[in-house]
Amino acid sequence: MRAGDRIGTLAWNGYRHLELYYGVSGMGAVTHTINPRLFADQIAYIVNHAEDAYVFFDLTFVPLVEKLAPQCPGVRGWVAMTDRAHVPQARLAKLLCYEDLLGAENGDYAWPQFDEWAASGLCYTSGTTGNPKGTLYAHRTTVLHAYAASLPDVFNVSAREVILPVVPMFHVNSWGVAYLAPMNGAKLVLPGAGLDGKSLYELFETEGVTVTAGVPTVWLGLLAYVAEHGLRFSSLRRAVVGGSACPPAMITRFAELGVECIHAWGMTEMSPLGSFGMLKGKHLGMPPEQQFEKRVKQGRAIFGVEMKIVDGAGRELPRDGKAFGDLLVRGPWVTCGYFKGEGGDILRDGWFPTGDVATIDPDGYMQITDRSKDVIKSGGEWISSIELENIAVAHPAIAEAAAIGAAHPKWDERPLIVAVRKAGAEVTREELLTFYEGKVAKWWIPDDVVFVEALPHTATGKLLKTQLRQEFAKHKLPTA
Ligand code: ADP
Repeated sequence: MRAGDRIGTLAWNGYRHLELYYGVSGMGAVTHTINPRLFADQIAYIVNHAEDAYVFFDLTFVPLVEKLAPQCPGVRGWVAMTDRAHVPQARLAKLLCYEDLLGAENGDYAWPQFDEWAASGLCYTSGTTGNPKGTLYAHRTTVLHAYAASLPDVFNVSAREVILPVVPMFHVNSWGVAYLAPMNGAKLVLPGAGLDGKSLYELFETEGVTVTAGVPTVWLGLLAYVAEHGLRFSSLRRAVVGGSACPPAMITRFAELGVECIHAWGMTEMSPLGSFGMLKGKHLGMPPEQQFEKRVKQGRAIFGVEMKIVDGAGRELPRDGKAFGDLLVRGPWVTCGYFKGEGGDILRDGWFPTGDVATIDPDGYMQITDRSKDVIKSGGEWISSIELENIAVAHPAIAEAAAIGAAHPKWDERPLIVAVRKAGAEVTREELLTFYEGKVAKWWIPDDVVFVEALPHTATGKLLKTQLRQEFAKHKLPTA
């Protein structure tokens, strides 16, 4: 390995992965964490685009690596993250063993000094359209991000805390936890591949975990297990939720268990942290409902990140908690372009367009109302697809729903709900439409509902609305 080489990893949250984070970047090479949940063809594209010199992999991924190797001729070696006794019988020409490589060295190594702008890490965004694009992080951006992530209103992790990142180390550096925990001397607990409710609960209890972080889906599994067995947490105090919107009911459920649920927002292009939903002192004296209104939002910009919302013409909108527009950000760990210049110049007057649509309230709390490309444009006005979806899934008979804009001759687009009923549950189109009355403005009420067996998702579990829009491109609204 040479300075500047990209070194791929296909690995869970484990100690060898952590060693690679520091060993690879510390020698001046680039830790390129790859999301193994992507489709194999996408992964092959990513490895080739990044020109990974070596790829390190956990044994779980042997079948995946066997499929990738013939498609990635530039990789000089595939390193099994294990010892000699456990090296797999894999169909791989260039197979190496992690512990053999380490064992051959005496541990006496002079860490080089290099420019703080040298690259340290690389992550590709999955993207719902087109090829994945890479975000390159520098030592400087990574360290500044880790300082900011440690602040009291962010992760607030000291040497007295025990932190367990459920968010994978292959997913934007486990939101910075792999850096901020050692930086602050916190005890770091790594869960490996066991992310089901039972495994996580037992690990929380045996290791005395006080802080954790992950996407809503994993918490659903954990909370279901805890409810089913009538359990409580003896050490856990804070759970950070992000990656997609935190369901309001999750905040309540965690609170009942004595755990503060903190809503966070960010993206790969932001290293990834942008905002954290910690309450301010003045909110603590407020009634629980008013506190709750703040907690469900995605939170305040963390120090270093600036945010603003703009309308279609780029004019800044008021921070009144009502006006919503395209969310733009800038800051020391926000990207200015993609790896190898893919996508060209992406900044708007120095600001990075997040692709999210949001409100910002007078206290600075940002709330995502939509993705820019998902917002429904009816007669020049915007309707939040997320709000329409939240109402649909609040109906007891609905398991999952997507709101998309369907073509309308007069209004351009009108909302269409594509919904999946819960097993054995009944609800008609008319009943679901009536359910919207009084919950949104009249002109926000969808024009139609279509029931389907299942909705399409991306490899990372987000709704694949591009596919839905294609499928329903010719849908004839009853109001058209
Ligand atoms: P990640 O890898 O963390 O999912 P991506 O870059 O793939 O990040 O996706 C970032 C996008 O995920 C954001 O632009 C936003 O649309 C969505 N997202 C992240 N956190 C939240 C959140 N707390 N609420 C709603 N959407 C979120």
